[in-house]
Amino acid sequence: MNPEQAYQELLARARELALIGSVNGVLGWDQEVNMPRKGAAWRAEQSAYLAGLAHRKATTPEINDLLSAIEESDLVSDPLSDVAVNAREWRREYDRATKLPTEFVERFSRTASLAQNIWAEARARADFSLYAPKLDELIELTRQKAEYYGYEDKPYDALLDEFEPGEKTENVKRLFAGLREELVPFLQEIVDAPKQPDFGLVEDREYPVERQRILGEMASAALGLDYASARLDVSTHPFSTNFGPGDQRITTRFDPRNFGDSFFSILHETGHALYEQNLPDEFFGLPRGSAVSLGIHESQSRTWENLVGRSQAFWRYFFPLTRQIFPKTLSDVRMEDFHFAVNAVKPGYIRVDADEVTYNLHIMLRFEIEQAIINEGLPVEEIPAAWNALFKAYLGLDVPDDSKGVLQDIHWSFGAMGYFPTYALGNLYAAQFFAQARNDIPDMDVLFAAGNFEPLLNWLRQRVYQHGQRYRAHELVQVVTGKPLSYKPLMSYLRDKYSQLYGIA
Ligand code: ZN
Repeated sequence: MNPEQAYQELLARARELALIGSVNGVLGWDQEVNMPRKGAAWRAEQSAYLAGLAHRKATTPEINDLLSAIEESDLVSDPLSDVAVNAREWRREYDRATKLPTEFVERFSRTASLAQNIWAEARARADFSLYAPKLDELIELTRQKAEYYGYEDKPYDALLDEFEPGEKTENVKRLFAGLREELVPFLQEIVDAPKQPDFGLVEDREYPVERQRILGEMASAALGLDYASARLDVSTHPFSTNFGPGDQRITTRFDPRNFGDSFFSILHETGHALYEQNLPDEFFGLPRGSAVSLGIHESQSRTWENLVGRSQAFWRYFFPLTRQIFPKTLSDVRMEDFHFAVNAVKPGYIRVDADEVTYNLHIMLRFEIEQAIINEGLPVEEIPAAWNALFKAYLGLDVPDDSKGVLQDIHWSFGAMGYFPTYALGNLYAAQFFAQARNDIPDMDVLFAAGNFEPLLNWLRQRVYQHGQRYRAHELVQVVTGKPLSYKPLMSYLRDKYSQLYGIA
């Protein structure tokens, strides 16, 4: 077949898949934001129908023939060209999708959907033994999945690769070990520091919900989110989703006494949406117009939430506005104390409530346990004890019951092992990119303090967003910063910032 024709045919098929996928995205968003409770069963039918349709279209053997026609041609002689990037990632997706037998996929998805209900009940009762048999089944299927995908070194590599293409267990291990060695003693210094924040300022005062919403929208618009093609809604768990060019959605939840919970989840989801909003529209639905990986996506949410949104320069600009919106609540509060309060470090049990310093320790623990399960066959009944022992070692706390420990996250119950490391990789990527941006934009704090975030957004557009999936994550960091990924930029950012806040010499 003529390779140019084959490419055009694949583009048309990719567009169809993008249409189906984004229609399903609208349904998923509606389910979380608007759908009445009794609509769940029919919505599940609708979503499963579209997912099945997409899967059939993505795995038909014709795709293989079309791809082969391109792969043997000089259309892909430059590996960084648009065609070559699309072909490379289409091949990866096709191979992964066809390596799993249909019967296995159905068994996996049935087991996972049962496991989610059982997990929810086990968590509510703080009783791991209810969940253990189903989890055991799911772990066995996950091991099989790794075998179907194949791997060179460890089975866990095959799982990690699903979420962070090209990343290796050994590399993540090395990065996390280096970070942990410095982070654990530094956390102790913070906990022991004589100077401590008054976190009640942001967690236990009156913050009327309508005003929180106004401020959240103002902040995300100031960072660069274009509300002509974005919308903020409310859902139980904050998330962001991209319906297509010109339509990005973010959600949050509001607590009338907690400022930080909604404000920083709006900034977090804004970071995800800024990435999607600034990917090249002309390549929507193609690898060339898609986010690199979960880790790189998370690096963007963390950049805007933490590196920008929890910085002193940001609050110099934003605190006066915040006080105007909450005049009664904040009349007696100084900017410095407010900034310290939104950066309070509090070792706690729950990952999603964790601060910038302790968050990565929560992830490392999950990474260790997942490897022990997948690579070393840790028996399911020993998981809670392994969890609690690591929690004590990393965060210095005794886990009171399994709902605050091993049962807190939904991920394993839908069979997603290998996902957690991407959250901490996101923090590492964010810090390394940001250190480079500081280098290239020397007066960044002055700009932030004046409410000007555009130079940073433009920098990210040029260095990260415009490439789509041209580079894998580990290549992108090399291209942008000239170095491979390291834990050092994150550690030195945390050390500088928190030493100053907590008065650590
Ligand atoms: Zn995120």
